[in-house]
Amino acid sequence: MIRSRVHLFLTLLSAGVLLCSTLAGQAATSVYVTPDGGLYALAVSGPDTAENALEALSSPPYAAPDGRALNSAILPGTHLLSLQISDDRAVVDFTRDIIGDGLDEARLEAIHTQVRFTLEINGGPASVSILAAGKDLYEHLPPLNPVPANTQGRPPVRLAAGTLAGKIITLSPGHGLKWSGSSWTTDRPVYCAPLNQEDYHNLEMGIYLETHLLEAGATMKTNRCTNKSYGNHAIGEPWWHMGPSAWLQHKGYPCSVYANYTGDCTLGTGASEATDNIRARGLASNYDGVDIHVAIHTNGYKGDCVGSGCPSGTGTYYDSSSSHAAWGAVSLDLATRIQNAVISAVRTQYPDSTWKDRGTPDFAGSNSETRVPQRAAALIEHGFHDTCDRDAVYLQDNFFKSLSMWAMYKGICDYFGVATTWGMYSSELISHDIPTSLKAGQTVQAHITMRNHGVLWNSDRQFRLGAVGESDPLSAATRVQVASEVAPGNSVTFTLTLTAPSRPGTYVTDWQMVRDGYTWFGDVVRQFVVVEAVDSVPPEIAFVTVTPNMAAPGDSLLVEVDATDDRSLASVTVEGLPMSHVSDRIWSRTISAAAGLGGHSLAVTATDTSGNSTPATGTYTVAGILWASGQSLNQDDIIALLAGQYLFSTWGRVTSVTVDGFALQGANGETVQVRAPGHTFGQGHFVAARGRWDGNATPPALICQPQHVRRLD
Ligand SMILES: [Zn+2]
Repeated sequence: MIRSRVHLFLTLLSAGVLLCSTLAGQAATSVYVTPDGGLYALAVSGPDTAENALEALSSPPYAAPDGRALNSAILPGTHLLSLQISDDRAVVDFTRDIIGDGLDEARLEAIHTQVRFTLEINGGPASVSILAAGKDLYEHLPPLNPVPANTQGRPPVRLAAGTLAGKIITLSPGHGLKWSGSSWTTDRPVYCAPLNQEDYHNLEMGIYLETHLLEAGATMKTNRCTNKSYGNHAIGEPWWHMGPSAWLQHKGYPCSVYANYTGDCTLGTGASEATDNIRARGLASNYDGVDIHVAIHTNGYKGDCVGSGCPSGTGTYYDSSSSHAAWGAVSLDLATRIQNAVISAVRTQYPDSTWKDRGTPDFAGSNSETRVPQRAAALIEHGFHDTCDRDAVYLQDNFFKSLSMWAMYKGICDYFGVATTWGMYSSELISHDIPTSLKAGQTVQAHITMRNHGVLWNSDRQFRLGAVGESDPLSAATRVQVASEVAPGNSVTFTLTLTAPSRPGTYVTDWQMVRDGYTWFGDVVRQFVVVEAVDSVPPEIAFVTVTPNMAAPGDSLLVEVDATDDRSLASVTVEGLPMSHVSDRIWSRTISAAAGLGGHSLAVTATDTSGNSTPATGTYTVAGILWASGQSLNQDDIIALLAGQYLFSTWGRVTSVTVDGFALQGANGETVQVRAPGHTFGQGHFVAARGRWDGNATPPALICQPQHVRRLD
């Protein structure tokens, strides 16, 4: 009978309480337990005193006024021996009946939670020591089973530049799935449905805290899986849902760490492993030889509470019991630093200026997580997950969780006497592609990538990329929105639309992260941008020459273009083919004459570096070839008539030579002048020449390209 009752409380630890508020203030109120693991506060008969409320804890009524069953972790027959209150601390002494036939961590924590909240409702302090016939109740726990030495010793110190380099920290996000004796269950139900569940939002807060501690160079030991992408446990649940026992087993810790109470090294069979799941947290810290142990929890007490009377705020607990006495003072220091930093951050930066400071109470041995670690240990109870219109809403807000965990990180740095490596608002420039020059009026899209090292950014909390000085010569808009949440450690890329002014000159565009209404922060992107005047003047083409301008089909033609621009030419083409830039103004290319007889034109285009272009045309004629003697070329009127339509070929001996040409004497002694600059013939050579007849010369001459003059002998 008693044993089955005890098992009811194995999952209970500061769970929510439902308060029957109609009787509040008229009678003493006691806090009981509901079958789903919640708490329930109920007015009890008798005088309105804390003593009466505590005495009533061992005899819950069969059911609450709303019909739900009520139980208690304080066993039937237990009586209050004394209550002493001094210096914000209560000492509650019960008869030995409270021990029953055994005590474990889970029931001890449940007893403490019932007593603590019963005292709080009746006006008592939050630090509570619980005794059984004058002896600390936790002294009645079965002793911890010995844990073998860590064969790897203290883990190697991580070399990092952060201010926490060399520090080893246990991060313990509370709860997670554990074996209840019949199934794998969470420690807490969902409160304020569909809002939150402590087992999981503790873990999500832990991820934020771990990020800051890692970025500060600390070596982290986590009691649960903080990587949501890690995959699933064999039971099919994501690893990040699992409690400390399952995770520490997976990470290779000895069975005496993760199953210290039951000794069930395989986990998931037999009796409840709730106490294993609790003890494992502090034992892992001892095994790892860490510097500090920090635990993250949220509070519960009234159960789905709405309205101004609901509990709210943050407290950070420590332990000064005899089994943790050597660490009591440093633990209080750690708890105080964390508490002060978190209260300050929530009040000024969330902001909720009335967020309640619930102080740094002493667990006085009743909580394993602050008692077992033989080192500084602190446990934050951050908000009430069952206060549905305030704390529970906050706990669903990633900014609240992130802000709180940055503050917890700050408190840890304060404890170690070091500065934070990255501030609450921290932004590191990763890259940007703002151009160094633009044309007047030109619009471009540029990108700036920032990494967040501080609290989470989102648009709801006024985080933006802002124009420094509230104006920018290249952008009318002075803010770029954060499209989605940017968690600490993550990067975000902003896209800016920049438009160059119409007036040429050098401009500065500069951007920085801002939380509007709070502060500008982090790296500044500052870029000088040279704005050039728009070039609307096209190139000029002075002439196009085609040499020769009368040719036979397929002859090579040299096209030359004289082109200039007020800035710079990008290209000159003929018939779409690129020309070579051969000298200051001259571009050239060799092409083949067309096959068809008659006049032809060549399309020439000059283009500048701004894309302005100018067209021009070159012309040439494709002609047939007539064979004619020197006599005919000198005397025949028909030659003069045909000269515009035909090329002429002739032959004979070279009789006299100049640099530019030579005289050619035919078989009948007639002579014709041939102009062929660069020729290599001497007197007596027998030569054929083809060219264009020039009747204006005296005597008339044949004008030839060098390749159309050849020796025949
Ligand atoms: Zn908790």
